[in-house]
Amino acid sequence: MDDRMQVWVGDITTLKVDAIVNAANSQLAGGGGVDGAIHRAAGAEQLQAACRMIGGCATGQAVITPGFDLPAKAIIHTVGPVWSGGQNNEATLLRSCYSESMTMAVREGFRCIAFPAISCGVYGYPKEQAVAIAVDEVERCLETYLMFKRVIFACFDQSMADLYNRLLA
Ligand code: ADP
Repeated sequence: MDDRMQVWVGDITTLKVDAIVNAANSQLAGGGGVDGAIHRAAGAEQLQAACRMIGGCATGQAVITPGFDLPAKAIIHTVGPVWSGGQNNEATLLRSCYSESMTMAVREGFRCIAFPAISCGVYGYPKEQAVAIAVDEVERCLETYLMFKRVIFACFDQSMADLYNRLLA
């Protein structure tokens, strides 16, 4: 396993990295979960204004805003798929969230970014499957993008971290 991938337990909004990734919704409207936490910590009004200028984001794609009041320089907003049984392209779309976010980071010259467990909350993606996709796709991107120093999988709780650690061991 690529040792540039790390697992960390805590609130992603506290991380001083080049960019944190947000598990956004397609309207970029802010919501619950990690999205809500990021909007509150970045400064809801200014982040919402930046999101309104962009307009929206399709599932599996990524857009970028400044980090505003966050310690992170930028926020890469990506829209994960809502789990609806697994026959609706969910795996491809989730994989795309990771690759599009990594590509966006490279384009910006970022070397250190952090991902939450995209789609693993209210979007209902089976956690083990989501984590396997996250690790596999980030590892694949790191093979190409040698400039990256660190990709952090930020987990809100230890049980999520255990799933990542099992794969990264
Ligand atoms: P989605 O709508 O994509 O499912 P959620 O925000 O509901 O997104 O959940 C995604 C993951 O983010 C879940 O594993 C959840 O526990 C986690 N999470 C929620 N808040 C935070 C936070 N502040 N920092 C890191 N992870 C978080």
